[in-house]
Amino acid sequence: MPQGGARVGKRGQRRDHWSVTRELSVEDVIQGKPTWGTLLRRGATKRCPRCGAGHLYRGWFKMKERCPGCGMRFEREPGFFVGAYLINFAITEGMLFVLVMGFVFWKDQHPDAGVVVPVVIGISIGVVAPILFYPFARTIWSAFDVGMTPLELGEIVEAADAAEASEVGVEDSVGDDGRDGPEPGSLRGRSG
Ligand SMILES: [Zn+2]
Repeated sequence: MPQGGARVGKRGQRRDHWSVTRELSVEDVIQGKPTWGTLLRRGATKRCPRCGAGHLYRGWFKMKERCPGCGMRFEREPGFFVGAYLINFAITEGMLFVLVMGFVFWKDQHPDAGVVVPVVIGISIGVVAPILFYPFARTIWSAFDVGMTPLELGEIVEAADAAEASEVGVEDSVGDDGRDGPEPGSLRGRSG
């Protein structure tokens, strides 16, 4: 299924027409969420789980508030990214587990093997892996979130507004506009 949501901002509306009622196609609202495979693949490659757009970070650690492709806000509720730390922790623990098991087998074959090298490797993993996987952990967690809780109508409208705004180069000015959904039936773009 084509990613219709990603194109919602390209209706050719000019900026001074924002006060008119937003057009959202039926597909924008009811389109099925991507499959779990697609969501996780996008998350694991540091892309937006909803539309697959990349370039979600400024630098290594600073995630943009919204997807530059579809406008989705990544932090959908306060404290949302705590889950990302869990993912990061799990990845690091998994690597340490592999290291320990590898050492157990190695020690079995080489009874004289010391523990200094594996300990140094383990500490290095403990320090480096969370930094290395930090941005991936966030997009993977975001993929889980979109998979478990599809976007609500208010979020879809907000995302479409943000995507449209970013296309005319004012991305940074639409950040903290609150989480209030639209009034029922209004579907209006931001006036002003
Ligand atoms: Zn997106």
